[in-house]
Amino acid sequence: MNSLNDLTKAYEFAAQKHTYQRRKGVRDIPYINHPIEVVNLLAHTIQNLNNSLLIAAVLHDTIEDTDATPEEVEQLFGVDIKNLVLEVTDDMQLAKEIRRRKQVEGANALSDEAKLIKIADKTCNILDILTTRIEWNRSRKVEYVLWAKEVVKGCRGINHLLEDEFDKAVELARQVLGEF
Ligand code: ZN
Repeated sequence: MNSLNDLTKAYEFAAQKHTYQRRKGVRDIPYINHPIEVVNLLAHTIQNLNNSLLIAAVLHDTIEDTDATPEEVEQLFGVDIKNLVLEVTDDMQLAKEIRRRKQVEGANALSDEAKLIKIADKTCNILDILTTRIEWNRSRKVEYVLWAKEVVKGCRGINHLLEDEFDKAVELARQVLGEF
């Protein structure tokens, strides 16, 4: 079973891999803040937490957005964690619209743990685009929230506390951006 040591190792690995990245459109926010927020949200909403879920959540954007490879993740954290991270990893060779459609279509078939990471990820992303100085116009923000809702629709039914947090973020989006 994965220990607290592995969780610490995951933070270090993610921090190193994301070192030179900043959050989307926001130059001054280090990327690592994002996986930390995702883990924190999971930790506060899920009762039967296990380290594997938290470790995969820390690593969830490393294969997609950094030079981390599946082999590297497997070697350091084992095959189960690698597979979980891959479940929430987009194929960056594909165009953005196709990646987005695949996320909607594939949500239902994800494992329960991957669904939880997806919901937490989308919740944190929505809060980020509402509360940080992101350089997106209103319609791009609205479009993101509507798409996130579609993805999360396929991930529901596992943890209502987490789903409530997502719904609250969408509600906040309506208040901040105006009805959509
Ligand atoms: Zn993410």
